[in-house]
Amino acid sequence: MTNQKKNIDLKRQNKDLINLNPIQTGGKLTDNAKKALIEFGDGYAVCDFCNGVLDEIQKPDIKTFVHQTLPEFLNCDIVQITNGAREGVFIVMHSLAKPNDIVLIDQNAHYSCFIAAQRCKLNIVEVKNNKCPIDAIDVENYIFLIEKYKPKLILLTYPDGTYGNLPDAKKLGKIAQKYRVPYLLNCAYAIGRMPVKMKEIGADFVIGSGHKSMAATGPIGVLGINEKYSSIVLEKSKKYPNKIIECLGCTARGTSIITLMASFDEVKKRVENWEMEVKKAQWFAKELEKLGFVLIGQKPHKHDLMFFKTDILYEISKKHKKKGYFLYYELKKRGIVGIKPGHTKSFKLSSYGISKEKLNIILDAFRDIIKQNL
Ligand SMILES: *Cc1c(COP(=O)(O)O)cnc(C)c1O
Repeated sequence: MTNQKKNIDLKRQNKDLINLNPIQTGGKLTDNAKKALIEFGDGYAVCDFCNGVLDEIQKPDIKTFVHQTLPEFLNCDIVQITNGAREGVFIVMHSLAKPNDIVLIDQNAHYSCFIAAQRCKLNIVEVKNNKCPIDAIDVENYIFLIEKYKPKLILLTYPDGTYGNLPDAKKLGKIAQKYRVPYLLNCAYAIGRMPVKMKEIGADFVIGSGHKSMAATGPIGVLGINEKYSSIVLEKSKKYPNKIIECLGCTARGTSIITLMASFDEVKKRVENWEMEVKKAQWFAKELEKLGFVLIGQKPHKHDLMFFKTDILYEISKKHKKKGYFLYYELKKRGIVGIKPGHTKSFKLSSYGISKEKLNIILDAFRDIIKQNL
């Protein structure tokens, strides 16, 4: 035996297969972004012409992108680039609230929002759905809790990452304005897929995720801010007067911002096709329901992220020699990935950006798998 080490195998296994994983369907790079990725791949390559502030760089023109293009796109006063959606949530919580203050968070919020609040040592009050736990959250449930707890911030997820439910964010905007409580709308699964206009909604903060929904490598996020709160959230250091404290002075200093910019024109266009994406998702869900799957959550469904209960696949798994993993192997054989290995009782998937032709391949695959194994 020799001691010679093998090179680490960095070939990506599932790269060219059809991928249904909701966290990946909106983050596929455009061709333009792939080129930019190579061009700016060297460490700190975006900093060639930096005078100390990332979003003041004009070569490439990050300045216009951050201070003009994105605020127009999000219909907000100010945009701050972050290292991801969760970092945006943390920045807002950390700057607006002190330890032991209360924040309201909807029960279907992403785990990272609960962790962000914990890192800030805040007390979390969860906003629950009293009627149907899997339907979109009834935002009227915030009213009583706002009156009772006087929170420093309220957070709503739009849509949530489990069921893809879209709650009435605009109605919560009215409630937040009435009670004068800062309102953060987490749009990690919305910005870059569907139109989100902060001022129309009446939110004070909107958050997007570049790698989840804006065709960027990431990690990167966009944070839209109502200028009323900008001096608090974006406070600068006394010692280094151009560095934002909550951002530790700088954020996405690399290919993440470059690919976000390179994809933006296409992202802006695809957002205009949102109605078509919703129709496609609804059609796909209907076809899957014909196989015995049950769509869970808001109906009619208004987002490409969908959660299905799939008893028929669970029944098969009980008898199959690969047990719960049979579905993963059967799909992979047919060139399809993205449903979590081991899941058969229920799972989520996304049809975003997948052509009808490919969705038909997926439907055929499910039909075939059921027929062969039942
Ligand atoms: C995916 C997701 C996040 C995390 O996004 P990052 O940009 O990776 O931090 C946060 N919130 C919601 C609602 C999400 O779906």
